[in-house]
Amino acid sequence: METKLIDGSALAARTRAKLRERVRGLLARGCTPGLAVVIVGDDPASKTYVRNKVRACIETGLRSEHIELPASIPELELLARIAALNADPGVHGILVQLPLPKHVSGARVIQAIAPEKDVDGFHPANVGLLATGHPRFAPCTPAGVMLLLEDAGVNPWAKHAVILGASNIVGKPMALLLLAQGATVTLCNSKTPDLSLHTRMADIVVAAVGRPGLVRGEMLKPGAVLIDVGINRTAEGRLVGDVDTASVMGIASHVSPVPGGVGPMTVTMLLANTVLAAEASLGARG
Ligand code: NAP
Repeated sequence: METKLIDGSALAARTRAKLRERVRGLLARGCTPGLAVVIVGDDPASKTYVRNKVRACIETGLRSEHIELPASIPELELLARIAALNADPGVHGILVQLPLPKHVSGARVIQAIAPEKDVDGFHPANVGLLATGHPRFAPCTPAGVMLLLEDAGVNPWAKHAVILGASNIVGKPMALLLLAQGATVTLCNSKTPDLSLHTRMADIVVAAVGRPGLVRGEMLKPGAVLIDVGINRTAEGRLVGDVDTASVMGIASHVSPVPGGVGPMTVTMLLANTVLAAEASLGARG
């Protein structure tokens, strides 16, 4: 069987072109969609992610506010900065880059973001909307995976999807989105005794663990669709996912590469959620 590579970079470019049209529509109505990206401390990986997000905003016509705060910032001061962004009508989306320093409660910070500006979709109000089938903002990475599947012609309806990794930001919302599209979903975590018992029955496998080489060809049913969310750096500095790509070729029907698969779609869905928030703000204004 020929294994097709799912080209996330190409889909991201097409999706961003459509977003630029919507941004033009907003500009014509006097609204420049604005995203505030807050970064606390100087974790180099976080800084790279934030730079990519800011660059993508500018390229798509959004206004981007980049707020760098010291790792020592008291939690109350950070919450006050978020309150100011909540009140700013020029800011439609607020993203606080994770991880946060140990003395700051991630849960309190996420809950401080106004749900209608929570473009990451992590606020409990937005998680609840997603869980009950009425999403306002779906978290960016799983939302990007859904678009990748659709673009590859893969309909999750009545399929068995197995997700490896059950985090709040990827695995759990991924399960909810696939469930909403009619899939039967198995969600695995680090305690799952035998992953291959599940993956061998899967029509769709989403790997979101952060362990290079975790998924190998012999763990798959022939024809399975494989989405690799993992991002790992090898000792030589190469970026790889959770899938041992060479071993799945000829067994999977589709596989998303790392880099160039899910990554570009994650940033694109952040832009999409910010445009949606700006459109909703105009709707609210009437
Ligand atoms: P995370 O918060 O560390 O969660 C990892 C999840 O994997 C946890 O649920 C953990 O189980 C589970 N796990 C650990 N070892 C396992 C094993 N051997 N078998 C099955 N499950 C196992 O990570 P995350 O934030 O979800 O990110 C996961 C990966 O995706 C990372 O490589 C990250 O860099 C990448 N990522 C990529 C993008 C993108 O845009 N491409 C976006 C976000 C994240 P427990 O719940 O039992 O601890």
